[in-house]
Amino acid sequence: MDELAEKIADARDRLAGAASIIVLTGAGISAESGIPTFRGQEGLWQSFRPEELATPDAFWNDPKLVWEWYEWRRNIVKQAKPNPGHYALAELEAETHNFTLITQNIDGLHQISGNRNIVEIHGNLWQVRCTKCGDIVENHDVPMAELPPRCQKCGEIGRPNVVWFNEVIPMDVIDRSLKAIEECDVMLIIGTSGIVEPAASMGLVAKQTGKCVIEINLEMTPSSPLYDLTLLGKSGEILPLLYTTERTYS
Ligand code: NAD
Ligand code: ZN
Repeated sequence: MDELAEKIADARDRLAGAASIIVLTGAGISAESGIPTFRGQEGLWQSFRPEELATPDAFWNDPKLVWEWYEWRRNIVKQAKPNPGHYALAELEAETHNFTLITQNIDGLHQISGNRNIVEIHGNLWQVRCTKCGDIVENHDVPMAELPPRCQKCGEIGRPNVVWFNEVIPMDVIDRSLKAIEECDVMLIIGTSGIVEPAASMGLVAKQTGKCVIEINLEMTPSSPLYDLTLLGKSGEILPLLYTTERTYS
């Protein structure tokens, strides 16, 4: 058996013996669905870096420009379909007693592939939030009728209902995530560079409380040395090899 096959067998055993599993996903899991990650070259739009557009300052400086970038992203996501990695996680949830999926992604693909207990820590690309009254509406129009969109209740401009750089994640979302980490036996961390907080610290919290942490990524990340196993490869190829219907807990 080569090294990766041995690690996959090890990960399978650990997952099969786990009554409670938590999964943390990042942009990498959707890369095989054709949605660019932030760190890849194809993540650029009109030569802007995401860090220059996904901030409150950028939005208030030029709301239309930021909305045009979101239109570009909404157009890509609208055409994307879940890949085998997403479907494997839906299977894993179906066969696991206690399962929570925390995602940094805003693309909504985990819902489409069938996961149910999802915590979207960075919000959702298909929701618009009023900058004045806070009203949130679903909007799947690409292109939108008006940029920036206007609130139907108070007339102010809307913004994407996502968490930008320099913004805080709502406290209830953090609480739900930490509670799931506390309860889990095994944590899977998939396709995240481990640079953006607080997701970056979640694996550390799991390790500090004695959990088994398994990472899947194309490359080693700054956090890899902390984890029990790092499986190097595409999540769409590795994840379908990990779940099993032969669970051993009672
Ligand atoms: P990132 O772009 O910083 O890193 C992506 C990671 O995925 C990298 O470590 C890369 O090596 C890995 N990766 C790429 N392709 C992979 C594959 N096929 N299989 C396994 N791993 C793969 O993304 P991030 O760490 O999630 O954080 C950046 C922020 O970007 C997040 O806040 C997220 O909200 C946002 N984002 C979301 C989407 C989306 O919703 N699909 C897309 C781009 C960025
Ligand atoms: Zn409003």
